[in-house]
Amino acid sequence: MSTPKIVTFGCRLNSYESEVMRKHLQDMQAKDVIIVNSCAVTGEAERQVKQSIRKLRRDHPTSKILVTGCAAQLNPGDYSRMSEVNAVFGNREKLDPLQLATVLNVDTVAVREKPIVNVQDIMQVRETAHHLISGVDQRSRAFVQIQQGCDHRCTFCIIPYARGNSRSTSPQQIIQQIQHLVDAHIAEIVLTGVDITSYGQDLSQPITLGKLAADILNQVPKLPRLRLSSIDPIEMDPLLWDVIGSEQRLMPHLHLSLQAGDDMILKRMKRRHSSAQAVQLCQRLHQHRPDIALGADLIAGFPTETEEMFQNSLRHVQDCHISFVHVFPYSPRAGTPAAKMPQLPVEIRRERANLLRQLGDRQRQNFFAKQLGKIQKVLIEKQEEDYSVGHSQHFASVRVPQAIEPGHIVQMVATAFQGDYIIADRLAE
Ligand code: SF4
Repeated sequence: MSTPKIVTFGCRLNSYESEVMRKHLQDMQAKDVIIVNSCAVTGEAERQVKQSIRKLRRDHPTSKILVTGCAAQLNPGDYSRMSEVNAVFGNREKLDPLQLATVLNVDTVAVREKPIVNVQDIMQVRETAHHLISGVDQRSRAFVQIQQGCDHRCTFCIIPYARGNSRSTSPQQIIQQIQHLVDAHIAEIVLTGVDITSYGQDLSQPITLGKLAADILNQVPKLPRLRLSSIDPIEMDPLLWDVIGSEQRLMPHLHLSLQAGDDMILKRMKRRHSSAQAVQLCQRLHQHRPDIALGADLIAGFPTETEEMFQNSLRHVQDCHISFVHVFPYSPRAGTPAAKMPQLPVEIRRERANLLRQLGDRQRQNFFAKQLGKIQKVLIEKQEEDYSVGHSQHFASVRVPQAIEPGHIVQMVATAFQGDYIIADRLAE
C-alpha cells in the first residue's frame, strides 16, 4: 500500500476531519500510513473500531497505523496497548499537520515496540482549528465544520468528554470554506458540528446559527443547496425560523435530537425540552415550511424506562410526524451519569429498539407514499450503468432509472417506492 488510507467511523464531524487529515497527508506526500478516525458514541462503535484495526494490520503488515478520534481521546491506553497500533492521537492533535508529521518520520519498528501517544486534555482547548478542505471523497456533498464540542452534559452522552466544550469557527472562515467548495462544483453543503444550535455564542461577536445560515446564502449566491446536520429542537433561534420559512436553498429537512418522548426520561437524560414542547415545535415547523420532512434520533431502553414510558416514546414519533427515525439501543458509557443508573436488561433494550425501528420503517413508507406524483429535486451521488442514486431535498434516498453523473441536481417525479428508496423518473416534457 502506498497512498495513505483513512478509515472513518461515526459522525459527519469525523468525516470532515478525515478530509482535513487526508489533505495534510497529501501535502506531506505521506506513504504507507493508515489513520483510523474512531467513534465512542456506543460500545458497539468501539468494538467495530478495534475489529477494523486488527483487520487493517493483517491486510497491511508493514504500514504505520495511527488511531485517533473520540475512542482514542477517551481511552488512549486501550489503543496504545494494541500490538497493531503505532500511534494514538487526540481529537485536537489529529488536525495538526506538525503532529501528524511526527509519526511519518519515525521508524516503523520503533513505534511497534513503543507506540507514540499524543493525547492532550481536550477540556483545555478554547478555539477551533480552521482548515480549508478543497474537496471531498465523492463529488456532490461536503460537510463543513462550524462548531466543535458541547457545553451540555446529557447524562447518557460521552461526547463532551471526547470533544471538549463548545467552540465555534468564525463566520468568515466558514464562508471562505464554502465558497472554496462551491468553486470546486460541490452542489450541497452540510453544516456540521457537535451541537450546532449553540453556534456562535462563544465568539467575540456572538452570532446565531440562523444568522450564519442567512449570511452563507447571501454571500455565496451560487451555492445550490444548504443543509443542517442534527439540531437541538429547543435551541432554534428566531432568525433560523425565518430562514427555514423563506429560503428555498435551505433544504426542507431537519434532523432533531429528540432522544425520548417521555418527560421523566427526558428529565433523567438532562435534556432541555419536554415532550409537549417537542410536539408543538414540530407542528410549528410543519406550518412554517409545509414541505418540510423531519428526522429524529431516539434512544431505546434508557435506564429506568418502564413499558409505559417506552409507549410514550412510540406515540411521540407519530405526534411529531417524524419521517426518518434513527434508533440507538441505550449503551452505557463509562464516566457518564446514566451508566451509574439501574440498567435495563440488554434484551429489553434490543427489543424496544426493534419496535422503534419497525415504527420508523412505517413512518418512512408513509412519507414515501405522500411523495408519489411530487417533484423530487435529486442530488445525484452515485452513477451505475443504467441507473443512479442520490438524495432528494428531503434527504430521502432516490433511485432514478438513468445513468446521470454525480454532482448534478435533477428534477424528477416520484413514481413508486421500494424499501429504503423512492423511485423517481424524469418529468414528462
Ligand atoms: S447536547 Fe447532549 S447529546 Fe448532544 S453532544 Fe451535547 S451532551 Fe451529547
